[in-house]
Amino acid sequence: MDLYSGHINRLIDELSSLPGIGGKSAQRLAFYIIGLPKDRVERLARSLTDARENVHYCSKCCTLTDDEICPICANEKRDHRTIMVVENTRDLAAYEKTGKYEGVYHVLHGAISPMLGIGPGDIKLKELVQRLQTETVDEVIIATNSSLEGETTGMYISKLIKPTGIKVTRIASGVPVGGDLEYIDEVTLLRALEGRTEL
Ligand code: ZN
Repeated sequence: MDLYSGHINRLIDELSSLPGIGGKSAQRLAFYIIGLPKDRVERLARSLTDARENVHYCSKCCTLTDDEICPICANEKRDHRTIMVVENTRDLAAYEKTGKYEGVYHVLHGAISPMLGIGPGDIKLKELVQRLQTETVDEVIIATNSSLEGETTGMYISKLIKPTGIKVTRIASGVPVGGDLEYIDEVTLLRALEGRTEL
């Protein structure tokens, strides 16, 4: 015998399939949602479908944005000759929060992982190479995570760019090994950026 109605079970199933949400949290959220006024639930549902439908990759840096070109790439005041390469949009947000980085970004949407079968062709690397061929760039700062995948990706990118003569740097290891950039405080992020070394 099912403890809950079919609709509740379906909602719990959907919620528990989300990252970081276990069975208990899913149940709690499901009952919370059912208890909300109908218009709140409709707003929540609409925000999910709207985000999925309207958010896409910036045509320059590949970050997630509502526009053709993201606000950072569209900003004339940014230093477009310095590109920081990050693994995802959350890492970009972490560096943006420091308010001290004036260059632009390139978002890979992943990292190379032979173990998981993720190769260079599975992340936004081709887009980076195209950018370097068409834009004037002085420096590429590699700010991938200090995990095995992040380091592998960094090395790969460095080897790829070196022959072009563009300066390639790697953020300092103030970032703890295996640490995700998005969880690191701003001071550590800035120190890592300032202490970057040329590869
Ligand atoms: Zn952009």
